[in-house]
Amino acid sequence: MTILSPYQRVMTLLQGKMPDRVPVIPQVTYTTAQLTGVGLVEALHSPEKTAEALLTGQRELGYDAIYVGWESSFNLLAEAMGCTMRFPEDSVPQVAEHVIKSPDDVDKLELPDPHSSGRLPIHMDMVNIVKDAVEGEIPLFAYTPGPFTLAGQLAGVNSLMVATIRNPQFINNLIAVAYKASKRYALANIQAGVDVVVTADPTASGSLISPKTFETYAAPHQQALVDAITQAGAIASLHICGKTTSMLELMAGTGTSILELDHLVKLTEATTRVGNDVILMGNLNPTELLLTGTPEAVEAAARECIEAVGQDGQYILSSGCEVPPLAPLANIRAMVTAAKKYGQYA
Ligand SMILES: [Zn+2]
Repeated sequence: MTILSPYQRVMTLLQGKMPDRVPVIPQVTYTTAQLTGVGLVEALHSPEKTAEALLTGQRELGYDAIYVGWESSFNLLAEAMGCTMRFPEDSVPQVAEHVIKSPDDVDKLELPDPHSSGRLPIHMDMVNIVKDAVEGEIPLFAYTPGPFTLAGQLAGVNSLMVATIRNPQFINNLIAVAYKASKRYALANIQAGVDVVVTADPTASGSLISPKTFETYAAPHQQALVDAITQAGAIASLHICGKTTSMLELMAGTGTSILELDHLVKLTEATTRVGNDVILMGNLNPTELLLTGTPEAVEAAARECIEAVGQDGQYILSSGCEVPPLAPLANIRAMVTAAKKYGQYA
């Protein structure tokens, strides 16, 4: 079979057909700063420098898509909606002060405009630069916040958890605004040429909430986002960190095309339960393997994933979550090598 471009490879898989080999898409963003020497915080204010690092990462390491992002989309949107941020020297920004301090504050929230609010225009400029540079050869993935997680950033995760029990009205009002903000941001990314929009909903993890809370407060809004993304002509992916084994059917039930699974989920179990409905993506351990493991161990673990669930298509080799900033690049290369060595379909 002829060797496909990364764009052709990923799109062939998404159309339910067999590409030339298993696509490999590690969740790499600010790890690429190692290649260009840009500071993590410095890049946050420069679309050119972020774009240069992301493009250099794909070119040098050879994976099959670029995640156009540098920090968590839920923090970026939380800032644009009025949260105060702290900017540590050596890591991405975190919320310092939540904008929602009481249920009444929800009425004061304004929907952020991706082209003018906070640092969202910097993100949009960066997407435009990367889109122009890849000339249709490399697919672009962008995160949008799961409304449940964005609500947690706006009000504080503790307040959100308490509200799931004591104040459903408040949480419903807050999540409704968070959903509108996420959707608007997702659609702006699609308009800028993003191919796959990843709804990232880490606070909706089975490590933090019950399947019942997930079904009530997280899944309906994820599903609505999936619908909006698909209707706008892009592909929907769903990323939830941690242990999500108890929610696999609910996650697949959102209608997402891709399901990104963390290392705590067994791929073989996931493929048995939901493998006919979604393309599975994952799930090498980001810390114990990609950050502190050896290239040999990464290659062996990647081979295991491919042999377990990647024999008949329907699978993208990836990390279980975001690759840490200081993960050795040799470990990312080992993932790409494994996909080429053990993931050939023809
Ligand atoms: Zn994650």
